[in-house]
Amino acid sequence: MKSLWIAEVHGGGLDGKEVLLRGWIHRTRGSKSIRFVVLRDSTGTVQCVLKRAVIGDDNFEEISAALIESSVELSGQVIPTDREHGYEIMVKDVKIVGPVNPQRPFPITESAMKQADGGETEFLLDNRHLYLRTGRMTKMLKIRSTIFGAVHSYFRDRDFTEYQAPNFVAGAVEGGSTLFEVPYFGKKAYLTQSWQLYAEAAMPALERLYTLAPSFRAEKSRTRRHLTEFWHAEMEIAWADNEDVMSHGEGLVRHIARTLLEQRSEELESLGRDINTIQKYAESHYPRIRYDDAVEMLQSKGVEIEWGQDLDFSKEKILTEDFEVPHFLTHYPKVAKPFYHRQDPEDPKYVLCHDLLAPEGYGEIIGGGERTWSESEILQRIDEEGTPREPYEFYIDIRRYGGVPHGGFGLGVDRVCAWLAGADHIRETIPFPRDSRRVTP
Ligand code: ATP
Ligand code: MG
Repeated sequence: MKSLWIAEVHGGGLDGKEVLLRGWIHRTRGSKSIRFVVLRDSTGTVQCVLKRAVIGDDNFEEISAALIESSVELSGQVIPTDREHGYEIMVKDVKIVGPVNPQRPFPITESAMKQADGGETEFLLDNRHLYLRTGRMTKMLKIRSTIFGAVHSYFRDRDFTEYQAPNFVAGAVEGGSTLFEVPYFGKKAYLTQSWQLYAEAAMPALERLYTLAPSFRAEKSRTRRHLTEFWHAEMEIAWADNEDVMSHGEGLVRHIARTLLEQRSEELESLGRDINTIQKYAESHYPRIRYDDAVEMLQSKGVEIEWGQDLDFSKEKILTEDFEVPHFLTHYPKVAKPFYHRQDPEDPKYVLCHDLLAPEGYGEIIGGGERTWSESEILQRIDEEGTPREPYEFYIDIRRYGGVPHGGFGLGVDRVCAWLAGADHIRETIPFPRDSRRVTP
């Protein structure tokens, strides 16, 4: 017999039918003659009823001794109930596939979490490999997978080519302080912070390109929104200005929200997310405000900020209070941004860039803009900054041979997942989170 998913059982239409299920024991209780096992698979849970009189003494003793997280195969009849889930299984036969050693029962229990020395959070992170199979993580990982799929479909449906940049690189995109240095055959190399510089090199070849890949940043302070290894959806597009790039950022985020509504409403709701909120993100236009207006808004709220400062998270958070949907911040002062951001021809104090800030206090999810694209401008910006030209020769070459206006953005996939799923912390969204204190398990 072919096995079924538990979700198929709950889907209805199988009343009285005989089915084979495979899964793990989620909960178990009972008496000398009857046992109730809640079985879990990747699609849900179902209560299974096992009677000594039906399955025989040997099977009954075995299942009664089986501990939580043992894997089992069982077959039986689908019976409608009046309980929440609708159906249960009257088991006729059972086989324990992978038993759990009673000397080492499944470690994640309510009481173990309460008693853990380092607190519940550290305990669950230490046992991350086992925590993944709990309901909350399973739902989060499905939401995450759908977001990855939505990134690919957004770009592929619009004639973008997927393109891979190297992960070992020689220089910084986002500033030296968050570079991971790795020994490289007697020399030094770094882990990439962004594919951008290498994507720009392929811009004259592909014109519309994107990637979905990890980026690495040595973020020393531990925050709710920084990982040292995160997943970065980046795009680069030729013959485009800041506004064109922003409309793709807005389009992508709306497409992600829409895809989640279509495919993961159930998971979102069961994580406590209000579907109407996601609907709003899927349908609204995202407003644009200039950096100068943001500074004024902050000052009017009594926040101390000087013109020219970058906006850190504490300020982003205050700004998001006034918006119900994501909003763009554009036209940062040139002094706050690296050389590859194009100077605004209308006022060289500013650069043509943008950040997209997610509401509900989540803050920046996208950073992007128009690139400095002419040879003379890039040389001037590099020299002005006091950056050595040598490591960027290949980057300058892109301008020497037929530069064109172009731009792109990077979206933090884990951050988007945290925001849309309503997670408190970015590490809830990724299977094995990496931060300054943890590379295990
Ligand atoms: P922040 O100021 O919040 O540290 P950033 O300005 O350094 O972000 P960018 O360099 O613009 O970020 O990177 C593009 C996007 O990548 C960000 O908008 C964010 O969504 C994501 N991102 C950046 N750093 C991290 C990180 N350490 N962990 C998770 N996501 C990140
Ligand atoms: Mg940024």
